[in-house]
Amino acid sequence: MVVHRRILWAGCLLAVVLILWQGYQVADGMATATARLPQAGDIGLIPAETATPRPIATATAPAPVLPVTTPTATLAPTPMVSPTLAPAPAPPLQPLALERPAPDLDAHRRVLSAPILMYHYISVPPAGADKYRVDLSVSPDMFDQQLAYLAENGFATVSLHDLLAHLSAGAPLPPRPVVLTFDDGYRDNYENAFPLLRKYGFTGTFFVVSDFINAGRPEYMTWEMLREMAEAGMSIESHSRTHPDLRGRSFQFLVWEILGPIEAITHHTGRRPHFFCYPAGKYDRDVIAVLASVETWAAVTTNPGRRQTLDTAMTWPRVRVHGGGSLRDFARLVH
Ligand SMILES: [Zn+2]
Repeated sequence: MVVHRRILWAGCLLAVVLILWQGYQVADGMATATARLPQAGDIGLIPAETATPRPIATATAPAPVLPVTTPTATLAPTPMVSPTLAPAPAPPLQPLALERPAPDLDAHRRVLSAPILMYHYISVPPAGADKYRVDLSVSPDMFDQQLAYLAENGFATVSLHDLLAHLSAGAPLPPRPVVLTFDDGYRDNYENAFPLLRKYGFTGTFFVVSDFINAGRPEYMTWEMLREMAEAGMSIESHSRTHPDLRGRSFQFLVWEILGPIEAITHHTGRRPHFFCYPAGKYDRDVIAVLASVETWAAVTTNPGRRQTLDTAMTWPRVRVHGGGSLRDFARLVH
């Protein structure tokens, strides 16, 4: 009897353990299934606090902005340009929405004489640099002297948007407006030019090549640097995606080169660029047409000159600041 009773008890105990174990398995399976739901790809839709740490780690993998630019565009690519397509960066951005100045009755008659200065490197060229690099490099010391000259002689820096607002609608400009532009996005722009601009209370316009930045190339600025500069009042504008000669290209190629940087700059700086700098100063009618169709309001060239009008807004000339020049040479350029 005792043996039978023990077997009976053991049987009951085993049954209870089995039932509990199966129940645990079901509950665990449900919990696992629930926890894995966010992995289905609902990036950004599930608040972080409700998701378990493991799915979040995969859900926050960077979703590049750029695939939106698949070259399946129709002839009206404007709707594709939407800052909302970019996944929102974690820290809050200070929004800045520039408006295109509406032309008034005098818009096509105004002529402005204002130098748009063109810089590249703001650093001492490395030993053994070729003549091109030397010509493209203004030393930080000379740049400092040039800014001091501008400040002492009543010049005030303005943005390309300021020029456009003046030409379109007569928005007032300071007596001696000058635009400082920097091509290619070299890192010395952040390290040397940016602090000097701040020293004088000046602003600059920086034309960057988005794929060079995305690739993390050390000779170019990073998105973090550009965002800091944008928040300090600098203009970050597009110099294309990969800096090619844009002439004679297909529509798809132009969309790829022009739209990508707009979305990247908007995503990383919180500011939508509306101005463009032609790589190596090269352009044709197709380039201008695609730029205009994606809300590019003006573009600068390497053509020499300082006469700006609204009708030539897509081919504004500039004044090249050569490396190695004296302060006297600079004074001649800006007057
Ligand atoms: Zn360039």
